[in-house]
Amino acid sequence: MDTTYNASFRCFRGCPGSWSLYDVIYTCPTCGGLLEVVHDKEALRRHSSQEWKQLFAARSGTTQWPYGSGVWRYKEWVAPALDDANIVSTCEGNTNLFWAARLGEQIGLPDLWIKQSGNSHTGSFKDLGMTVLVSVVKQMMAQGSPVKAVAAASTGDTSAALAAYGAAAGIPTIVFLPQGKVSSAQLIQPIANGATVLALDTDFDGCMRIVKEITRDNSIYLANSMNSLRIEGQKTVGIEIVQQFNWQVPDWIIIPVGNLGNISALGKGFLLMQELGLIDKLPRLVAAQAAQADPFYQAYRQDFRQKVSLPAQKTLASAIQIGDPVSYEKAMATVQRFDGLVEHATEHELANAAAQADLTGLYTCPHTGVALAVLLKLVQRGLIQSHHRVIVISTAHGLKFTQFKMDYHEDQLPGVEAQLANPPIYLPADVDVVRKTLDRYLR
Ligand SMILES: *Cc1c(COP(=O)(O)O)cnc(C)c1O
Ligand SMILES: [Zn+2]
Repeated sequence: MDTTYNASFRCFRGCPGSWSLYDVIYTCPTCGGLLEVVHDKEALRRHSSQEWKQLFAARSGTTQWPYGSGVWRYKEWVAPALDDANIVSTCEGNTNLFWAARLGEQIGLPDLWIKQSGNSHTGSFKDLGMTVLVSVVKQMMAQGSPVKAVAAASTGDTSAALAAYGAAAGIPTIVFLPQGKVSSAQLIQPIANGATVLALDTDFDGCMRIVKEITRDNSIYLANSMNSLRIEGQKTVGIEIVQQFNWQVPDWIIIPVGNLGNISALGKGFLLMQELGLIDKLPRLVAAQAAQADPFYQAYRQDFRQKVSLPAQKTLASAIQIGDPVSYEKAMATVQRFDGLVEHATEHELANAAAQADLTGLYTCPHTGVALAVLLKLVQRGLIQSHHRVIVISTAHGLKFTQFKMDYHEDQLPGVEAQLANPPIYLPADVDVVRKTLDRYLR
């Protein structure tokens, strides 16, 4: 593709001004709101939808740097002016769609699919956005920018992704974690990748406030999803889903949400496909929240009359334990545009939904449990029907949440009655006892 494409930052609320993706700027200087990356649609429209589909198909699965990546396959739509030599990629994306045949059968949904975004380099979808952000930083540094390091506040997965991409690029990283509120797998990831790990005696929202102050002087670059570069990478998940279905759009997509960057990104990818003629309808989007930390659900219940912020209570879905979501306005616009809705799930519901899915061959993280619990509610309510194609976005790998699973199967989770617990059976090493026990279990 020979055309030159352009993308720039603009105010999401529409204030005047546009900035280079290589400027250190996170919010609108006029109103303080979020920025978004705006692409030159004129230039993109010079190619037909058929040409784009062919290009993306030709790149899929190749080793041609960097286009084998599930993000950079769509490079012209993501960050077109990046030098390929500055791209920091782990071949992210390319995650499988798991046809949830048995789970679907149990709940009367033969066309149920799980997008396994957690089958990724650092075990969560956060890789999709981080490859874009760290690549842009690498280009900025190559061009002599004063940026020395990249920092993020995190509920665990963002810091793991930041640390891995920083280490791959040789760029120093700093992560701010709420002490005692991330899993040990999530804590050890940035440590192993050489990040400076600061465990603060506060919650996620407290870490967010500190990192904003620390990144004020522009020598440390802010990697949180208020930085809309990450949204550009994360938006490819929807494009990849549709490509995997040979450009057919599903009826519903359910996604667990916290800071609300991910659902905004999902919507942005669909709107771009629609504008460029690759698809002619939109899916309905469902934002799934943990009832312990559900400000977006509370706002939705009041018809989004105003943003709700509240102190997030402890939830097993620790990556979405957020009370003051940064991308609220974008996510609200997305839910409205996509005829969407917001639903929430209790600890009991999310843990049992995750266990039910696991018993059909999945290995779900608690956030995916939230999305699955919400799915069950919408099926029971008759809103999601048996002829619908439904995608649940699994956001992280279950292996990051071993303690959650152990505690569930030992029925040790507070507020949860583990209806599907499958604890190990402790026996003496005696053939007769083993045989008798098996007789009982296999009957
Ligand atoms: C970050 C994250 C989410 C939520 O994404 P937001 O952009 O914060 O809404 C959901 N699940 C997991 C596992 C995550 O790491
Ligand atoms: Zn503005």
